Amino acid sequence: MAAREIDKRLEQLRAEGKQLYSISKLNTINTCPYQAYLNYVEHEKQKPNIWACAGSIIHDRLEGCLKGTNTPQDIKSAIDDELENFELLDIDFPLDKNGNPTIKNNWVANMTKFAKVFTPWIGHFDTEELVILPINDHAVMHGYIDVIQYNDDGSVDVIDWKTSSQFTGDHLIEAGRQLAFYTMALEAQGLRVRSAKWVMLKYYEASWVQKNGKVKVKVGEWRNFVSDCKSVMEKMLVGLGYDETDVDYILTNAEKHNAIPEELEGMIHVQPYVREYELTDEVKAETMQYIKDTIEKYETTKDWKPCDCKGNSYFCANLCGYGGKSGKCKHWVDYCDTFEKKSDDDEEDLF
Ligand code: SF4
Repeated sequence: MAAREIDKRLEQLRAEGKQLYSISKLNTINTCPYQAYLNYVEHEKQKPNIWACAGSIIHDRLEGCLKGTNTPQDIKSAIDDELENFELLDIDFPLDKNGNPTIKNNWVANMTKFAKVFTPWIGHFDTEELVILPINDHAVMHGYIDVIQYNDDGSVDVIDWKTSSQFTGDHLIEAGRQLAFYTMALEAQGLRVRSAKWVMLKYYEASWVQKNGKVKVKVGEWRNFVSDCKSVMEKMLVGLGYDETDVDYILTNAEKHNAIPEELEGMIHVQPYVREYELTDEVKAETMQYIKDTIEKYETTKDWKPCDCKGNSYFCANLCGYGGKSGKCKHWVDYCDTFEKKSDDDEEDLF
């Protein structure tokens, strides 16, 4: 995983006494002030999180694909090699509730299928571009945009790769703030942002023309592509005159390879799912308010409370670099002690 070099523009801002913020820092402050304290005040080292590490593997290779230094095949080899390295460092996906590596297997299946179908885009792009937006006389927001696409009409598109699950409800608003911030930062530079979108790498978008002439669109996880679309494939094959035995054979083969059967090439279009996020003035205003409010909260906080879960959530156990096996968060350690004590008591009750 390539470490990002510190940009001279950020060094300069620090030298001028500016406080640097990013969307992820603001989100940490709001999710768990104690985590923000350990990270940004105490500079306590965090145990790397597998989701961030695994996401970086994909981001790095995708950047290489757009620059011409990698091919989509490199994504698959990097997944195999680097996940093994992370495992050796005890950075691994959580097991499911039955103790099986389903979460890892699904992640690998989705990303591997994505890598198989991904065709690097052609056009004029910048990748991992630093953007900076002053908020007040001392606070400056910064971030790195995965991809800026330059369009012929002089506008740009903001593109963010996402290896996470779909965003819904409040999570959509939270995720959207990152795109809103990037957009505001680019607009402050005088650029016209035509669109902002996520490429949701875990998902496919399949489309086909129905009998009534309307286009049907389906979105799902790559690993389930053929099983999700099996019934429509079956109807198409029957429509093409294949008998039941042939249809069974063709679909079994398609499921085995999780790919469109060649008999249906051109009838079903499948591509990585791109989700555009509409950045209205209200969305941008909400984001700016969120930025200002959170900076104020951080700069005035004296009591760094843990998140509401008080150290007992999935987030603490698996996602926070101070929880789980790291044992650096006192709230997490307290919770584990209580839990163990309770287990001991329960055991005593049994006998
Ligand atoms: S383990 Fe939980 S309570 Fe502790 S710092 Fe992390 S998120 Fe906060």
